[in-house]
Amino acid sequence: MYVAVDDTDSVSGNCTTFLATEIISEFRDELDLIGYPRLVRLNPATPWKTRGNGSLVMRFGKGIGKKVCIGNVDDRDIFCFERMGTFEPDENTVISRIVPLIEKNSEPDANPGLVVSRKRPSQSMYWRGVRTILDKKAAEDEIERIGAFKYEIGNGRGIIGAACGMAWRPRDSTLELLTYRPTGRWGTERIFEPLSIRDMDTALPSTFNSWEERTQKVTMIPSTPCPIMYGLRGDSLRDLIKGKDIIRTEPIGRWMIFLTNQGTDDHIMNNPKQLIPNQSYYVEGRVVAGEHVTGGHVFTEITTKYGSITVGAYEPSKEFRYLFDNLSEGDTIGVMGELREEPRTLNAEKVKVIDVADAYEKISNPVCPGCGRTMESVGRDKGYRCRRCHTSSPEPRLLRSVRWVREGWYEPPAAARRHLSKPLKRMGLEQPVDFVNRRI
Ligand code: ATP
Repeated sequence: MYVAVDDTDSVSGNCTTFLATEIISEFRDELDLIGYPRLVRLNPATPWKTRGNGSLVMRFGKGIGKKVCIGNVDDRDIFCFERMGTFEPDENTVISRIVPLIEKNSEPDANPGLVVSRKRPSQSMYWRGVRTILDKKAAEDEIERIGAFKYEIGNGRGIIGAACGMAWRPRDSTLELLTYRPTGRWGTERIFEPLSIRDMDTALPSTFNSWEERTQKVTMIPSTPCPIMYGLRGDSLRDLIKGKDIIRTEPIGRWMIFLTNQGTDDHIMNNPKQLIPNQSYYVEGRVVAGEHVTGGHVFTEITTKYGSITVGAYEPSKEFRYLFDNLSEGDTIGVMGELREEPRTLNAEKVKVIDVADAYEKISNPVCPGCGRTMESVGRDKGYRCRRCHTSSPEPRLLRSVRWVREGWYEPPAAARRHLSKPLKRMGLEQPVDFVNRRI
């Protein structure tokens, strides 16, 4: 029996992953959890998302095969099983016990959706959910087609995310260990030892997005009033458990490991026929011009097979913007990012510098080959002439500039990355150059 929930939180509080831990602990004495609980991120450009557009999916039944400890709630370990046996729990019992939990753990302005099903929606639902904007009807039709049950509160838009999350068959996946604060501490300042996070990051290279070495900053602890203490992301279950023992924080109320599509680039479309706003793409082009605007954003014009595109690197992406400062006309780059509707910019979340063009700077007017004197300019873009010998030259004396950019992939600091963006670390790559602010 698959269970999926979405849209229970709002900016003012709650957290759908916490609700998932409540659902899991509700059934732990009667039903087994099959596979990891799943945190499935959907299209990050969805205009009505609260924060990270995450949907939560669990499968319950009678487990067989390997049994693994993946969490602890109320001082009791939580296990999941490798495979599902033949027993399927009763749908109505499952639903009647989950609905009160949703009601208790939802914000009044959220639009929760619950989907309970024996069958999973078609895989294409996931790809549409992670890459495009769907209307509720699309989710309703699929729910009906597979004979699933749905429960809605408010406008019930949560069923879109629930159906799309349930449809995920991982092509690539990562894990996240989420720790939660005891209820009495929610909304208060979080207490932790930053250097223990640096130690963990150094000791466990299979983890990612926890610590920013260049700025010595912790990036795994939210600043919102949600119940989460921290989220430790990585590729190895064993390392996440080790990491939890290295990181020192105030006492944790519960923890749980989720299988996720975070860090997979699943939201990126390569080679689309056309570019539609509110979707994310990889697009290659040649740099035409760059411009800084107030507020620290950088806009760079590139020519592509889709025409001219403005690439935006916004202030929160910090040092990543300095890559754009260092690009020159004629450079070829590939940009991954979301195409915004208004202003229509491709918001860079990762860049591949494909070719660095030669760039020149003028050092002086040209020298006359006849008399050795410096020529004079005839006028703007009209070249140069020697008054005495009447020789001419179209170009000044040029010196090849030093280009600081090197070919390779560049990404924003960990704190500014999208949940779905695959970190260079996971691609087995390192950024070739770290840029610093050279602006005056
Ligand atoms: P958090 O990350 O804090 O859990 P959130 O960012 O997931 O919150 P939600 O409150 O869940 O935000 O709101 C996202 C809403 O968008 C849900 O109602 C979900 O069903 C819907 N949604 C998700 N993906 C799509 C999509 N591709 N097209 C249309 N609606 C979507």
